[in-house]
Amino acid sequence: MRLILLGAPGAGKGTVAKLLTQLDGSVQISTGDILRGAVQAGTELGRKAEVFMKAGDLVPDDLIMGIMEKRLRESDCAKGFLLDGFPRTIPQAEALKTILALLGVQLDGVANIEVPRQEILDRLTTRRTCVNTQCQAIYNVRSQPPKVEGICDQCGSPVVQRDDETEAAISHRLDIYNEKTTPLVDFYRQEGLLLTITAPTSEGVVNAIRERIAG
Ligand code: ADP
Ligand code: ZN
Repeated sequence: MRLILLGAPGAGKGTVAKLLTQLDGSVQISTGDILRGAVQAGTELGRKAEVFMKAGDLVPDDLIMGIMEKRLRESDCAKGFLLDGFPRTIPQAEALKTILALLGVQLDGVANIEVPRQEILDRLTTRRTCVNTQCQAIYNVRSQPPKVEGICDQCGSPVVQRDDETEAAISHRLDIYNEKTTPLVDFYRQEGLLLTITAPTSEGVVNAIRERIAG
C-alpha cells in the first residue's frame, strides 16, 4: 500500500506505520527516524538538522526533499511505502507530487489521524523512545512500559525521553503543526485522497485504514 500518514505529533503515525508494514510488507519511511539517525551518526545532514529539531522547529524543505527523493527511489519501495512525518508543508507536498509522477507511482490515500489536543499532550509527555537508531521502538510509561524500566525489550538499549519531548518543546511542535501541516488536509481533500480517521487506538486506526483501502 502507498499511503501518507498525516496527524499531529503523538497521533500514533509511527505505531500505525509499524503495524501496517507487518501486514503487507510495505516499508515505513519516517523522516524523523532518518533525521535522528543522521544526528547520532554526526553526518553533515545531521549537523544541519539538529538545531531545528532541538527547538521543535521544522527542518528546511530543501534538506527534507534531498532525503526523500533518494529514499523513494530505493528498490524496497516497490512493495509499497508508508510515509510517516512527511510531507509536513505545502512545498513538500507539491515536491512529493512531482517525484511520484516522475516515478510513475500513485498514492492509495492520505490517512489523517485526528486526536484531541489534550490526549496528544498526555501521550507525548509519557512517551519514551529507544536510543538505538536501528530500532527506535516506542514505549509509554503509563500504557506500554518496557518490561525492564528504561531498557528496550527489542534490543536492550536505553529507552529515554526525546530532547524535543519536554512540555515546552511539545507545545511548540503542536503550534508548528497547526500552522504548517494542517493546510495539507485541504490539499489532499482537493486531490481526492483524504481519509479522515478518528479511531481512539492504533489498532482501530489500522482497521479503519484497511477497510477503506484495498490491497
Ligand atoms: P513527531 O511526529 O513526533 O513530531 P518526528 O519524529 O516525525 O516527530 O519528527 C521530529 C522532528 O524532526 C520534527 O520536529 C522536525 O524538526 C523534524 N522533521 C521530521 N520530519 C520532517 C519534515 N517532513 N519536514 C521538516 N522537519 C521534519
Ligand atoms: Zn531498541
